[in-house]
Amino acid sequence: MSSSEPSIFTRIVHREIPADIVFESDRVIAFKDISPKAPVHLLVVPKTQEYANVAQLAAGDPELLAELVAVAQGLADQHTDSEFRLVFNSGAAAGQTVFHVHAHVLGGGLSEGSLA
Ligand code: 5GP
Repeated sequence: MSSSEPSIFTRIVHREIPADIVFESDRVIAFKDISPKAPVHLLVVPKTQEYANVAQLAAGDPELLAELVAVAQGLADQHTDSEFRLVFNSGAAAGQTVFHVHAHVLGGGLSEGSLA
């Protein structure tokens, strides 16, 4: 599902709002979550907002999903001890608030139950 309104993450891609960007490639951007739920909390996001959730992304562009996962591991290698939690909230009832697919990378001393 795509929306004509740019998502908050699209606005970060276009530098319309600030973010602490830690990685960028042709198709993927990653930045620090504004409200971290773990010592390391990064968001890994396709630049396109064409896909609202991970199932749509998997169906529509599995290579892009694979790139997100590879970027997440690379960032975990840089920012944590390489071990991390990868979370995709899918649906409002599951806590999703931004309907532009994104992976939460959580690491650096996770405590029990620290889900994003
Ligand atoms: P969701 O709840 O949709 O899975 O995750 C959305 C995430 O985006 C939340 O963890 C929230 O803190 C983060 N977020 C929302 N707005 C902004 C923003 O403007 N900048 C950054 N860096 N993160 C944001």
